[in-house]
Amino acid sequence: QAGQRGISGIDFYSTDLNRLLQERLALERELRHALVRDELELEFQPIVDAQGQVVSAEALLRWNHPRRGRLGPDQFLPLAEQSELILSLGQWVLHKALAVAVTWAECRPDPPSVAVNVSARQLDAGNLYGEVQRALQSSGLLPARLELELTESVMQRAESRATLSALRELGICIAIDDFGTGFSSLSYLKAFPVDIIKIDRSFVTDATTDSRDAVIVRAIIAMAHILGIDVVAEGVESPRHQTVLRKLGCNRLQGYHVGRPETAEQFQARLRAPDATTGGDHA
Ligand code: C2E
Ligand code: MG
Ligand code: MG
Ligand code: MG
Repeated sequence: QAGQRGISGIDFYSTDLNRLLQERLALERELRHALVRDELELEFQPIVDAQGQVVSAEALLRWNHPRRGRLGPDQFLPLAEQSELILSLGQWVLHKALAVAVTWAECRPDPPSVAVNVSARQLDAGNLYGEVQRALQSSGLLPARLELELTESVMQRAESRATLSALRELGICIAIDDFGTGFSSLSYLKAFPVDIIKIDRSFVTDATTDSRDAVIVRAIIAMAHILGIDVVAEGVESPRHQTVLRKLGCNRLQGYHVGRPETAEQFQARLRAPDATTGGDHA
């Protein structure tokens, strides 16, 4: 009896695994086609300053899957990261984000920057500098209006340093994403030329509930500012988060309370609105 259960258990397990593998292969095949079938889309999430003015917007990738509906990056980017697919996706994102950001100048005399997430593999591939240069040229966007977001894992590699320095010389801003989730965040500040750090959502939440965490966040913000680095708080979900982070010295906020990721059209409409301020001290 036990043996039978064991055997059927294994059968069940292997069928399950087989199904997972099939699904994975299908998804990968579909993702290859998503690019040419125009199923990818960028949403834009506002980042505001102390006055509530939109100073920047983060481009976030979505996949309008024909059967599964709208998928978030967590549902397909890990898969793409395992192949060269991430390179074509990254290239698409870069060109699209810059083409969209250029239109914001029609909405405002002082248009916001655009923040683009870059995966480690894009840097490894060795042509990020060229890709960025091409995207800037074809869109006509000023380099100063582009921010590249990299996670700490990317910063771990010494080889990345030369590329990042070269990009900065073009006038582009470099941001460390999810700051604080790695083990030696502070050492990256020493080793890399960065313009912006984005304090991870988990820190933002903790700083509003734990006074020790609040002290740490305050110190990070103060130190960054002394080094001439801008600080963005990620995941500002409530008025309380906003108040606390501002009190801790953070002048740039991003999160559902400030504004959710929205379509390019919605974001344009936000910029066109006469008093388009959110999350400001006077809002
Ligand atoms: P991220 O770069 O840290 O982006 C912020 C994520 O937090 C986004 O999730 C955003 O929708 C979400 N978020 C913003 N405000 C709040 C909030 O107040 N509360 C909560 N709970 N979440 C908030 P999303 O769009 O699902 O993206 C997830 C991750 O996927 C991103 O994290 C980024 O690492 C990656 N990603 C997104 N687009 C791209 C892309 O074009 N290229 C690459 N390489 N990675 C991307
Ligand atoms: Mg990001
Ligand atoms: Mg982040
Ligand atoms: Mg994050």
